[in-house]
Amino acid sequence: MPGFEIFGEEERKEVQDVLDSGILMRYGFDHMRNGHWKARELETAICETFKVKHAQLTSSGTTALSTAMAVMGVGAGDEVIMPTFTFVASFEAIITAGATPVIVDVDDTLCLDPKAVEAAITPKTKCVMPVHMCGSMAQVDTLKAICDKHDLLLLEDACQSIGATFKGQHLGTIGDAGTFSFDFVKTMTCGEGGAVLTNNETYYVNADHYTDHGHDHIGNDRGAETHPFLGYNFRISELHAAVGLGQIRKLDRILATQRKNNRVIKDALAAIDGVTFRRIPDPEGDSATFLSFFLPTEDLTRKAHAKLLENGLGGNFYWYDNNWHYVKKWDHLKNATSLFPLHSGLKEAIANYNFDQFEQSDAIMGRTISSLINLSWTPEQAEERASKMAATIQSVLS
Ligand SMILES: *Cc1c(COP(=O)(O)O)cnc(C)c1O
Repeated sequence: MPGFEIFGEEERKEVQDVLDSGILMRYGFDHMRNGHWKARELETAICETFKVKHAQLTSSGTTALSTAMAVMGVGAGDEVIMPTFTFVASFEAIITAGATPVIVDVDDTLCLDPKAVEAAITPKTKCVMPVHMCGSMAQVDTLKAICDKHDLLLLEDACQSIGATFKGQHLGTIGDAGTFSFDFVKTMTCGEGGAVLTNNETYYVNADHYTDHGHDHIGNDRGAETHPFLGYNFRISELHAAVGLGQIRKLDRILATQRKNNRVIKDALAAIDGVTFRRIPDPEGDSATFLSFFLPTEDLTRKAHAKLLENGLGGNFYWYDNNWHYVKKWDHLKNATSLFPLHSGLKEAIANYNFDQFEQSDAIMGRTISSLINLSWTPEQAEERASKMAATIQSVLS
């Protein structure tokens, strides 16, 4: 998963260009920047790499989600369907929009269960937000069909699955809009940063304005620009974009290495009776940042996970108990603990929401371990890790 493992000369060169000109901002100062437009260049590279018409860089993946919702018109009173297994940014962005998060079960893809989505649709539903977790994909074709049928927006959170595809299309480019995160632990990193991807020109133009205080970006005098609507500052800096430019050129190499190393671990675990794997709707499109697998019971999974860590095999995650990623531990959301007053409809919706209804998710996530795939392993290290992991899991199962 982490592009930071291969940070090097390429990124340094791009950052040095920015430091040499001294223009750290992505807009304006045209005559002082020695022709360097790192954010613009990265947006172009994103469009080419992921075969999408438009990309708007943002300050983070979370602000990319906020921007996507703003340009799609998701706001107060609207319901947004999101999964039980994700990152806290999902509900943060929904709540920031003034919309209401409606949390529904995942299935053995570790992503939104389309049946649970359909069952959760109400007259207030505006948007379905699948989160392509741990490098692989939701059943995005089925979800898209559901959205088309019910006239809902599809927002793909592909923050964790940069470079993954579904039937040849990049995740994040299939729905009405999609998002990437370039935070420090993502497949490619800017240090901090994100992007909104869309094929919808109006969404893109509005995202360009919205992320820069609503400036219309007409003419050369920022102070003279008008504001067609309210905006915010979700800009990325040139320094961050420069790092991303170095990283995106290494993406093919990152993906190839992940897929090779993932295969080594998977082959070793597949030989164990009792180990099964996450369902991947299009296995060829897996970005392979993680290998996620199931053990027969929650009890055995907890034991195996503890044993893996005990044996020095870090990078194995048991999300079921994780504060960031699974609904069970989101007490601040369940209690609507906010520094500022939330609007009454949202407060009421959260207070009335049944957070204890996720037996299906519990039954899956309680048996899931995700194993991080590193880029820096030598073939010998990958083999050694694979056999250690297999021996550890085998010892717990037998
Ligand atoms: C990392 C992440 C985000 C948010 O990205 P930041 O850049 O850290 O704000 C959103 N969704 C998912 C699924 C993520 O993993």
